[in-house]
Amino acid sequence: MPEEPILPIDHPLLALPSAPIERVDDEVRELAEEMFRVMELARGAGLAAVQVGRPLRLVVVDVPDAQGARRRMAMVNPRIVAASERTVVGEEGCLSMPGYDIPVPRREWVEVAFQDLDGGEASLVASGTFAVCVQHEVDHTDGVLFFDRASRLRRRRAKDHFRKGRRRHEAGVRPQ
Ligand code: ZN
Repeated sequence: MPEEPILPIDHPLLALPSAPIERVDDEVRELAEEMFRVMELARGAGLAAVQVGRPLRLVVVDVPDAQGARRRMAMVNPRIVAASERTVVGEEGCLSMPGYDIPVPRREWVEVAFQDLDGGEASLVASGTFAVCVQHEVDHTDGVLFFDRASRLRRRRAKDHFRKGRRRHEAGVRPQ
């Protein structure tokens, strides 16, 4: 595994929709295992395959749901099939842009349909942090980034922040 396996937010792959997974086989299960490892090392709540350079519709999450129960699972070809009309705004970040949280509006709850790692059809209703995480990761499979959902001003600030950080990094200066 490369030292920094998570692609940065300005990587062109992250702006493109990922391909559907035709068959849930060992290769997909191995990719999911690798993604769980990468997510845990980065202390993240969710990760999409495209973030590790594999533009496939596969996401992993590890978050508490609205009742506080831990939801650690992989979702193959996840799609949101129903959502609340109500939106809630919460602070949100992305493993492709660590340490930068901004307010993002999200549906209060979503119903997501997907396949599990055995290829079985499944669906569930997510609310709370779990719902935010599912929407964030499904967005990644569509090439949509968290700041695309924020106000234009916040989006511009986020991009500026990232570019400045990159220049500091390239100049060998420690980030503040
Ligand atoms: Zn993300």
